[in-house]
Amino acid sequence: MSISPEAQAVHDRAFVLLAHLHMQRQFTPTAIEYVRPDEDVAGRQVDIPKLRQGGVKCIWLSEGGPGEVSVDPAAITAGQTEPNNRPAIRTVYRGASEVQRMLRGFDAVARLCQTHPDDLALARSVREAREIAASGRIAVFWHSEALLIANDLAMLRAYHALGMRVAGLVHGSPLDWVDNDLEQHDPSGLTEFGRQVVREMNRLGMVIDVSHSSPQTVRDVVQTTRQPIVASHSNPQRLSPLRRNLTDDLLRAIADTGGVVGIHCSSAFVDIACLHGRRGGRAAMYNQARLDLLDQIATPGALDPFQYEAAMRASGGAPSDAIFPTVHLERLIDHVDYLVNLVGIDHVGIGTDLQFLEDAVEDFDSAAKTPNVTEALLRRGYSAEAVGQILGGNFLRVMAAVIGE
Ligand SMILES: [Zn+2]
Repeated sequence: MSISPEAQAVHDRAFVLLAHLHMQRQFTPTAIEYVRPDEDVAGRQVDIPKLRQGGVKCIWLSEGGPGEVSVDPAAITAGQTEPNNRPAIRTVYRGASEVQRMLRGFDAVARLCQTHPDDLALARSVREAREIAASGRIAVFWHSEALLIANDLAMLRAYHALGMRVAGLVHGSPLDWVDNDLEQHDPSGLTEFGRQVVREMNRLGMVIDVSHSSPQTVRDVVQTTRQPIVASHSNPQRLSPLRRNLTDDLLRAIADTGGVVGIHCSSAFVDIACLHGRRGGRAAMYNQARLDLLDQIATPGALDPFQYEAAMRASGGAPSDAIFPTVHLERLIDHVDYLVNLVGIDHVGIGTDLQFLEDAVEDFDSAAKTPNVTEALLRRGYSAEAVGQILGGNFLRVMAAVIGE
């Protein structure tokens, strides 16, 4: 897409915040290392040059859902084309190793910022984020999709002391105190301890992210929180009936807290036909190496969880013959329109989930193409002010409300 001078000016003025993305990293026996983050690597969706080219001022850099594996290979194979199967995902990190894994994530993000001081800086407050952006760098908030705290609020407080200001509660694996879109406890939602987690996050000033949460978890969080909450990367289920997307009721409930929903860039999240249209390489997507690992994790102590995660990630990824249908950014903007009509302009933002998407929407399949969103929104008739809100102003408002300036 070509960017008009007007769109470029709007984009340059906006506090462009991508509320959920990853960067390529590798797992060594002793640490997590980002891979050549300062190189503009072809085919990669996120690296520093692409963030720069996209005029991005702030990111929530996510360490994802650590060490998760489906303990049911048949279900994971079915899940390639059947979105609403129950893949029985568990994390191999339990107890103290949960905390060790989270600290390795923080260590990786902190060192990424320390080793690229001209481009990135770790932010712990809205004021810091604004100052970092004003100095021409990108503000990085440490984010995790799964709040692995070993069922211990002291760990949550320690993460906050390190700088965690926004966190997802749960990812692919349900935790003892919270369940997710894929699998529910009976009863579903938050346990009493889960409610304590929410209250402690409120007290500390940490934004609660309910993407990946079960519907009942979202309802329980909404009932318990005294502050705005977000779904950093989820789309309206009405337009693409994936369980990972959100129903109108839940979208309204999140907005009613004063919160924000960030749109997700996967084509399947935009149009479920893209999921049904996936073809190729089914067997290879759950190959023998991964099955061997499954055998090992079934035996307690047989595999170090860090070794497991490194091996699992090295063995993963789509085979080269796989086909992932995509839709154009314009269809994603339809989701923005839908959200704005449903919950209002104050409650919509941009999540993306870039770096590991096999089916990112065309013309927004890289952080470098973020100005295309501005162009597309202006062409739809959104005012410059409204575009600024969607590009990051709304998320920044929630952060200021929850974290304090
Ligand atoms: Zn996610």
